[in-house]
Amino acid sequence: MLDAQSDIMEVVMNQVLLGKTGIKVNKNGFGALPIQRISKEEAADLLKKAYQSGITFFDTARFYTDSEEKIGYALSEVREHIFIASKTMTTKVEEFWSQLNFSLSQLKTDYLDIYQFHNPSFCPKPGDGTGLYEAMLEAKDKGMIRHIGITNHRLPVAIEAAESGLYETIQFPFSYLAAEQEISLVKLCQEKGIGFIAMKALSGGLITNSAAAYAFLAQFDNVLPIWGIQKEKELDEFIGYIDNPPELKEELKAIIEHDRGELVKDFCRGCGYCLPCPAEIDIPTSARMSLMLRRAPVSSYLNDRWKEKMKRIDNCIHCDHCKNHCPYGLDTPKLLAENWADYKKYM
Ligand code: SF4
Ligand code: SF4
Repeated sequence: MLDAQSDIMEVVMNQVLLGKTGIKVNKNGFGALPIQRISKEEAADLLKKAYQSGITFFDTARFYTDSEEKIGYALSEVREHIFIASKTMTTKVEEFWSQLNFSLSQLKTDYLDIYQFHNPSFCPKPGDGTGLYEAMLEAKDKGMIRHIGITNHRLPVAIEAAESGLYETIQFPFSYLAAEQEISLVKLCQEKGIGFIAMKALSGGLITNSAAAYAFLAQFDNVLPIWGIQKEKELDEFIGYIDNPPELKEELKAIIEHDRGELVKDFCRGCGYCLPCPAEIDIPTSARMSLMLRRAPVSSYLNDRWKEKMKRIDNCIHCDHCKNHCPYGLDTPKLLAENWADYKKYM
């Protein structure tokens, strides 16, 4: 009897209720951006295994090429047992409808659980002249979407969205490298009953200890992390956390403290919003190469492919497109030059 009760307690403790949406899932959302990089069958195997192992929240986007199609292919038979969140980057109403219809057809469904504005540079609101928020309301009325969300990389837009009361979920980068302002955003969402979907919980590969990442985020009961999963090994790690969630004990706290010390202030998060680069520089990895070399096996980045990619930094024409589009306000060309100089020491 006691065992059964503690099992029930554990299930509840390991779940997150996404604000007022009523969506209740365990703290392992499937971030479906990386499945673009694998074959349809590999993606289907991964998605089916995730579902069969208890993962029921899948986050994708129209912008993630065939990610939606792969989810539809793998999981349409179990549609009513899962939650699907997708996104649109459009700024035009006509395109809003064509993208939503296309997403639904790719996902082989007639509704999305959450439809999100994908990293807009402003917070769409009724009456702002764009008609975008009105389109969301109409889609909700028609039953094509169940909840309205927004994703962003800019703190002021995310705060405005939280304060507006117009959004049921907010998706924002959040990891144990977060600053006080980001933690305040999570708390603001909690106060307002808004579900917080945490992207980049591994900070684009800089955090290598997923148990520490999980345990840190689990402190916040309105936060649902979506883990970007491309390999079965990664999936297995998160499946293991469903029944055995890592706790924030001394060992993991020490890892977090160490990483916070090493990954100070301005570092490239690898989000890619600075692309495209006219010199074809792979900015999201090149701008944090020094950190990658210290934190991942050096050999992964010292091959001919990466040498050629890093050399492209010499071709920078200083157009400042990257700098002007970086949501973290980084001086990207300078960061690239520093990383290139560091990389040459290893060549
Ligand atoms: S400043 Fe250099 S790195 Fe940045 S977008 Fe322009 S060419 Fe690319
Ligand atoms: S430079 Fe800025 S925009 Fe580009 S990948 Fe890094 S954090 Fe993102």
